[in-house]
Amino acid sequence: MTVRVIETASEQNSNLPPLRLRPHCLSSTDEQYDYNPDIHKPAIEPIEHKIRLDIMRAGYFEDDFKLLPNTKGSSPWLDHFGDRHPEPLAYRHMEQSLISQMESEERFYNAMTPDQDILDEAPEYLATQIRNAHKSTDDTDEQLRKVQKDREKWYQFLIPRNFNTAFQVKTLGGLISGGYDIEQCRPRYENIHGNVKNKITYIGVIVIEPGRDKQKIAEQYNVEKQYVRYGAPDDFSGSATEAFPADYGIEYPAPVLMAEYPSGSEYLLIPWSGGLVCQGPYKQNAPHRVVCKHEVAAALVLSEVDSIFLPLHKGVDIPARSRRFIDPRIAATHNSETPNTP
Ligand SMILES: [Zn+2]
Repeated sequence: MTVRVIETASEQNSNLPPLRLRPHCLSSTDEQYDYNPDIHKPAIEPIEHKIRLDIMRAGYFEDDFKLLPNTKGSSPWLDHFGDRHPEPLAYRHMEQSLISQMESEERFYNAMTPDQDILDEAPEYLATQIRNAHKSTDDTDEQLRKVQKDREKWYQFLIPRNFNTAFQVKTLGGLISGGYDIEQCRPRYENIHGNVKNKITYIGVIVIEPGRDKQKIAEQYNVEKQYVRYGAPDDFSGSATEAFPADYGIEYPAPVLMAEYPSGSEYLLIPWSGGLVCQGPYKQNAPHRVVCKHEVAAALVLSEVDSIFLPLHKGVDIPARSRRFIDPRIAATHNSETPNTP
């Protein structure tokens, strides 16, 4: 098995470990990509990369960026704020992205045979389900319709609900404001972008196998010991998670990005599927969830720097790949638009 070795370029320290990714960790467009949804962690789907771009491009506007007090009801934005288009611009971009994505996938269900060429272009999870439907001894058409119906339910209901959950006063608001303005349903802008002590800090760390001698490893790589972390929950402040880089197939020592939030909690962003995935439990506990509050916050940070690479505020130098939040191929082709509704 070929392992992709991505060196860390550093002017200060030539001694840093590279990022080593197994074939299933790579981007789906990579020649060596070899991913199996039955055995590997859920891939970052194209729609996830697109929603990140939608949030990033909509950005954070001082005057009209609101968060939901709660997600009750079938149209919580309308219920709470009552305006004509009370949702954040990112939500409206997402609506259009969901429509376009569903349309772009129709051809996969309509193939009379599980045509290899066509299905090669489908996200691997969907391609596997469609191949299984064709293999099934039951009515193939019926099986295919079921796959399509489940997929559409995800796009039409689960993803918007997931978005709303992340854009609440108590989720994103609690994460970035450190005492949000509850009257206005607004997180504080400076906690995302400002030059204040309690904003989000992105830190380069080296993750190692639990039990190894941290001091020795810090000396070996010529880094401060505080930036060497075990791939285990006890070594992260305020985190409740069981997913670590090794679970994704990334070899240790792994130079990766850790986010420290104003609340004090620390979570890694793991290089995966052309972007990064949050190790937090909300995202990890349900594969159908496309975005968590930490990932929304990352997209908002990117809106300010206008880049698909998250900043590195402190810690050790890590490869640029470990800071790349969005697949560049999707970033180059996706347009963020609002639906054509009156
Ligand atoms: Zn998260």
